Amino acid sequence: MSKKYLLAIDQGTSSSRAVLYDHGAQVVASAQQEFPQIYPQPGWVEHDPEAIWDSVTAVTEGAMQKVNAGAADISAIGITNQRETTVIWDRETGDCVYNAIVWQDRRTAAFCQSLKNDGLEPTITDKTGLRLDPYFSATKVAWILDNVEGVRKRAEVGKLAFGTIDSFLLWRLTGGRVHATDATNASRTLLFNIHTQEWDDELLQYFSVPRALLPEVRDCAADFGTALDDCLGGDVPVCGIAGDQQAALIGQAGFSDGMTKSTYGTGCFVIANTGNKALRSENQLLTTIAMRIDGNVTYGLEGSVFVAGSAMQWLRDELRIIDSAAASEAIAKRTGVVSDVHVVPAFAGLGAPHWDPDARGAILGLTRGSGRDEIVTATLQAVAYQTRDLVDAMSDDGIKPAVIRVDGGMVANNWFLQFLADILDIPVERPTNVESTVLGAAYLAGYGAGIVKSVRELSALWQPDKVFEPQMNAEHRDRLLRGWQVAVNRVRTAEPKL
Ligand code: ADP
Repeated sequence: MSKKYLLAIDQGTSSSRAVLYDHGAQVVASAQQEFPQIYPQPGWVEHDPEAIWDSVTAVTEGAMQKVNAGAADISAIGITNQRETTVIWDRETGDCVYNAIVWQDRRTAAFCQSLKNDGLEPTITDKTGLRLDPYFSATKVAWILDNVEGVRKRAEVGKLAFGTIDSFLLWRLTGGRVHATDATNASRTLLFNIHTQEWDDELLQYFSVPRALLPEVRDCAADFGTALDDCLGGDVPVCGIAGDQQAALIGQAGFSDGMTKSTYGTGCFVIANTGNKALRSENQLLTTIAMRIDGNVTYGLEGSVFVAGSAMQWLRDELRIIDSAAASEAIAKRTGVVSDVHVVPAFAGLGAPHWDPDARGAILGLTRGSGRDEIVTATLQAVAYQTRDLVDAMSDDGIKPAVIRVDGGMVANNWFLQFLADILDIPVERPTNVESTVLGAAYLAGYGAGIVKSVRELSALWQPDKVFEPQMNAEHRDRLLRGWQVAVNRVRTAEPKL
């Protein structure tokens, strides 16, 4: 029987998905399953690694069953995953020593602060491109080592393994034979030197993490071993791994310098490909590994907005002024661009480039005539303004995107994308397949397995659905942006940066 499918596994923060693609990167079948979130204390977020594993095997089986596929039909597996989330397990039994500590978890804030007080942040940022923040894996690893009895000792003598979710899944899929990760996931741990492409002894020492815990770091498209019979009913090679945002850039075929993608799901994540240059941001953006293919490291500049699609959920669930996120489009179309009302959805503070965690949301500029339609439209506009702030920060750091490729649930909204193009003043491109993250994992699997022969061939698989060209005149745009800046400054708790 000839192999005809690629299996992409997308292990996300709230659900796991498996998608089968044919060799032309067209979706053949998919399955998705949510799993429980665990909140042991305010600010703590955990996942049960067994629940993650069970959901991954269930969706894999589910997708395969839909088209009656067996392991013999699958050429290769690609994995993409929620980044930074930390798991430690026993190399012998495979049992995890603690729940997975999720990227959102803030329990290690005091540890981060103490390292900052010791003056270590500049060195850490130089080596990793990241901020010293609980978000990343290193302090989560240290927390498990220091808070679960006996674990540090076992870690020091090599009995335990650390992994981000990709690494944990790979270990399980390969029956404990492969303990590896890829360079994009490694670059989110605070332990990996993005310039030397190695785990860094000085960083390991700062965070008190024994080297014996760490996986081997490979390219994104590589031989990651073989998923065994008992998982898929036959042996299938694992040929691709990348963290979710990097996978989205790959799924958008963002292979050349300057190419930029913006993903609009719950939040918004922008990554610009900066080629072989690791740009150090002056605007608190992150420097990260965008991809490592054929041994070539491509760097990226990354910024995020905490609230994007979730602002639509806020309109729907809290204000109850729309029935569904999709209803925002008809309202905005009818209302047209709103100039005077600004919604600042700083529900969880302001991210890059403002970094004001204590800021909170506001609706400004209301008049007696302002109503539901203006608030809904202004909320959509706010997501575009926040993207503009990120893109301006990138431009200031030396990367000026000429176009931006978009994906995620919110890009179904044509009105939003036209406004985004108007505000960014660059074309916005939406692909036919807006599920870029999982598609990126499939691309990597196809390339790693030799089915797709070159990155150029991968680029040719990317298909545009619609390009939104900027149409707004400069004067109108500038007036809107000035209004937005005034609104943002009103919610800030710190002095605005000049
Ligand atoms: P995630 O992967 O973060 O769960 P998705 O990529 O599935 O998110 O996107 C879902 C988000 O997109 C939701 O927050 C939803 O409010 C928003 N959304 C979905 N459809 C639309 C639409 N037509 N207009 C605006 N927002 C939308």
